[in-house]
Amino acid sequence: MPKNIKGREIAEIIPDKCIACQLCIGECPINAIDMQGGAVRIDPEACAGCGRCLDVCPANAILFEKPVRKKMTGIGQKPHPLEGYRGIAVFIEAHDGTGAEVSWELVGKARELAEKLETQVLGFLPGTDVEPVAREAIAYGCDTVYMVDNPLLQKYLSRMYGRALAHMCNQVKPEILLVGATSLGRDLASVVATQLETGLTADCTGLDINPQERLLLMTRPTFGGNIMATILCRNHRPQMSTVRPKVMKLPKKDTGRRGEIRTFDLETSQEVVQVPRIIDFIPRAAEVGGVDITRAEVLVVIGKGACDPRHLPMFEELAMLMGGTVACSRPVVQSGLLPHIRQVGQTGKTVAPKVYIGVAVSGAVQHLVGMQGAEKIVAINIARQAPLVQIADYALIGDYREIIPKLIKGIESRIKVIR
Ligand SMILES: Cc1cc2nc3c(=O)[nH]c(=O)nc-3n(C[C@H](O)[C@H](O)[C@H](O)COP(=O)(O)OP(=O)(O)OC[C@H]3O[C@@H](n4cnc5c(N)ncnc54)[C@H](O)[C@@H]3O)c2cc1C
Repeated sequence: MPKNIKGREIAEIIPDKCIACQLCIGECPINAIDMQGGAVRIDPEACAGCGRCLDVCPANAILFEKPVRKKMTGIGQKPHPLEGYRGIAVFIEAHDGTGAEVSWELVGKARELAEKLETQVLGFLPGTDVEPVAREAIAYGCDTVYMVDNPLLQKYLSRMYGRALAHMCNQVKPEILLVGATSLGRDLASVVATQLETGLTADCTGLDINPQERLLLMTRPTFGGNIMATILCRNHRPQMSTVRPKVMKLPKKDTGRRGEIRTFDLETSQEVVQVPRIIDFIPRAAEVGGVDITRAEVLVVIGKGACDPRHLPMFEELAMLMGGTVACSRPVVQSGLLPHIRQVGQTGKTVAPKVYIGVAVSGAVQHLVGMQGAEKIVAINIARQAPLVQIADYALIGDYREIIPKLIKGIESRIKVIR
């Protein structure tokens, strides 16, 4: 370990690994880190050896070994408030006997994180008649599923679900709780975080682990999407995060996997619910056959440069020929050409189609965070330097008004040959 002239053990940058993200600069409490000539530098004489830069570095580019904190064992000493928390829990969202896909995506991510922490993946499943969903959770990667099976949990109500999930957390004490950022999950996560008096990082686009300190590194866009911040919850448990659908990869289902299902009783009554009677339950448009761009395998995404109502039929034809649907960037919604349910990006939907075709989409960061999970990216753009062109698997440089009719013709002639 390098030391400064005062003999203090200090952190050092590993230049080959450093990606110059500057997160360490923001984290350093005494401004001992800065940029010099495009490279990050730690001032050895100023460094206090706190190791906070190590916690936030996403590239393992900091050489530092944190001193191991002494455990409190003496009589009369209070146990550390973070002790005894183990396991990565995922809230399993269930509707009419089916688990939400985002829950399985999070179980897949939890497995990856659990390996780094050498711990278990736990499913927390409140609902009514949800045992088949519990078995599905095991097939996707849970080691143990905790259920609260109660008739009062048939339809989602913040108070009841919040009570059930907080109860599970208090009993099982997971160190991490992941919740899908669906409309239900967003509401529930905030209720539970408030009840447990812990922190919550919403809409994370990346999750990782600092195994030394068992900290969850929760990364999400901030400042209007212009920087990616990695947020830590040091002093409270569980560390809570919501993640949107399609951000994490869906793991493979293994129906032969073995796991344990445990049931919790939850003492509750209709009075606790405080809703005398549910009059109606109105499903989202997507659930009654409306457009759901998150489920499409092919997306033809219209950008501002192609925001022309006369060309909409052409985009729809291309999408139809490829078995897909039309989506768009934010300016297209702002122009009124397409509704918000078709918007891709930070303030729209996160999508992960097999094929994403961006037509005159520049690829601003707020758009990219919503479509980076696409398997193949095609960019049609007049500008070679557009960010979307830079990350695309295939780029067609030119005017979309010339390119798309040719694409349609080409696909139609292939369909004729196949027939
Ligand atoms: C807080 C915040 C949240 C945001 N959330 C989102 C979001 O969720 N989703 C989102 O999309 N944006 C979002 N934005 C807006 C984002 O910053 C960009 O402004 C937006 O994504 C740009 O959309 P665009 O690529 O369609 O348009 P532009 O950036 O204007 O790009 C148009 C592209 O069209 C190309 N072009 C022009 N004419 C042609 C032609 N004839 N043929 C081929 N190519 C052509 C141009 O070269 C250019 O690359 C957000 C912004 C903020 C501040």
